[in-house]
Amino acid sequence: MDEFELIERFFAARARARDDVRVGIGDDAAVTRIDANAELVIATDSLVEGTHFPAGAPAHALGHRCLAVNLSDLAAMGAQPLWCTLALSLPDGSAQWVDEFSAGFMALADTYDTALVGGDTVRGPLAMTVTVHGRVAPGAAIRRDGAAPGQAIYVTGCTGQAAAGLALMSRDEERPAPETSQLVERFWYPAPRVGEGRALSGIATAMIDISDGLHVDASRLLRASGVGAQLDLGSIRVAAAAVEQFGRDRALEFALLGGDDYELCFTVPTEREVELRRVGATWDCGITCIGRTESDLQVTWTEGGRVHAIDDTSFRHFAEAGK
Ligand code: ADP
Ligand code: MG
Repeated sequence: MDEFELIERFFAARARARDDVRVGIGDDAAVTRIDANAELVIATDSLVEGTHFPAGAPAHALGHRCLAVNLSDLAAMGAQPLWCTLALSLPDGSAQWVDEFSAGFMALADTYDTALVGGDTVRGPLAMTVTVHGRVAPGAAIRRDGAAPGQAIYVTGCTGQAAAGLALMSRDEERPAPETSQLVERFWYPAPRVGEGRALSGIATAMIDISDGLHVDASRLLRASGVGAQLDLGSIRVAAAAVEQFGRDRALEFALLGGDDYELCFTVPTEREVELRRVGATWDCGITCIGRTESDLQVTWTEGGRVHAIDDTSFRHFAEAGK
């Protein structure tokens, strides 16, 4: 069983139902109703040494990253971050390590006016779990399942940089420090699209954050919404630094299948595209239209009229499907 089957079978299927749970297990974050004026949005994510980051990872970057991936889940719901808690498992109590970790964590918490209100500190393998709480106006959360056929699909920023950074770190024996390369920096210091996500309230019909790769996460949004899509390979933004280091094909592979970018993928009805472009023009990260949703459930990537088949996990199998 994969993690999703485990969650579905042993947690989602057994979870108690309550009227005030608006969005439960299965989206980027949960949405619960407190009173008539606000809904509370809750997300939690863990980082474990050896699974999510290599041993010897810089403490300051880890502090940033464990909060950033959680804020990204709030961003994907269009929520405003408010509070967070931090559960930290440490192999030893090095004050210098914790000092740097905390500095990275708090700097990002300050940026998004998020208060650390509790947590837990224990001895164990290096791991951190953050829970974030945010708010949306009642009914305003942007779920994964709201897309309809005929809507435009957009992505923020430029995907694939974090994966290229990670590849750079494993390729180069002397591990490059975050400040030496824009790509490595993107892996360690993802920028959660909090302001962008909030601004998409009333514009986007469905949204997801890209943690596992553009193709995989876009497909999740489409599946949840019960639609398919025609996507344009030629529209994908590829980082110049990634092309320089790895060549065009590999850079495109990172952009499509590489994870850890924490950009947003969302759908917009035609009549709201003018407003989206007006709002998006003010964002540093930019936006790119990558295709349109369709009632046919297939997810098809085309380039110059030719159809490409994409395997969920590997660009090696990124063979042409004919046509
Ligand atoms: P994401 O990649 O957005 O962090 P996950 O893949 O971790 O999401 O989880 C998928 C969904 O399952 C989310 O809604 C998450 O809250 C939920 N989930 C994951 N693990 C558990 C668990 N042990 N119990 C209940 N819900 C869980
Ligand atoms: Mg997510």
